[in-house]
Amino acid sequence: MKMKKVFLALIMLPFLLTSCKQGKKEMIYETDIYSIEYDVKSEKLVQSINEALSQNFQRILDFWGIEKLANHVNIKIYSEMDDWIKFYEEKSGSKYQDYVVGCADGPNIYVLAFDEYKKTQQHKNDSLEDFQKIMVHEFVHICHTQLITGWDKYSFIMGEGLATYLAGQRYNPDVKIDYPKDELFSNDLFSLTNDSYSLSQKIVRQLVEKVPHEKLLEYALDYTKLYEDWDELEIKD
Ligand SMILES: [Zn+2]
Repeated sequence: MKMKKVFLALIMLPFLLTSCKQGKKEMIYETDIYSIEYDVKSEKLVQSINEALSQNFQRILDFWGIEKLANHVNIKIYSEMDDWIKFYEEKSGSKYQDYVVGCADGPNIYVLAFDEYKKTQQHKNDSLEDFQKIMVHEFVHICHTQLITGWDKYSFIMGEGLATYLAGQRYNPDVKIDYPKDELFSNDLFSLTNDSYSLSQKIVRQLVEKVPHEKLLEYALDYTKLYEDWDELEIKD
């Protein structure tokens, strides 16, 4: 009798292990242009991502004048906040802040699952559409990264300004932007304002109005050009 019980437990054990693992099993959704790594918890976001990218893909490529992406894009959805924080802190080498729910690195996009980031203070009122905009935002970064020839030419203002603008993300139009240019283009933008994303988008919106498209791209790919022209551009609050 005792033997039988042990035997049964041994049969059951592998079965239990497999079903536990399946809950966290990673799956891949693949297209010619990108792949999405997800698990059961984040399965329903795959369709939202497909929708966001298919509706905006060509528009963003056209903006940058890119005919073909240099690399296959890898998207990874993090279903658990703990895994996301761990990943982010290892990747960035800095302390996690709760507004960070997505990031791009080369041809890779990493994003925290919508249900999970709705629990954060910063994003608790976000809609699924806001999640989709984050995907577009990160895709703008991927295109930018493909074209820029050196990080010494990159500015937060053009990078985040264009990403939030082209993704149609909310910004505060009343944010103050009239700072000395040396402060705006320093790496210390965060000490000027806690809303550096709104500041960047507000500047980009004025540039879109004031300069031809080619010039805008030139500024995005080499901020020193923007720095040189800054005074005559008369960017105002
Ligand atoms: Zn960004």
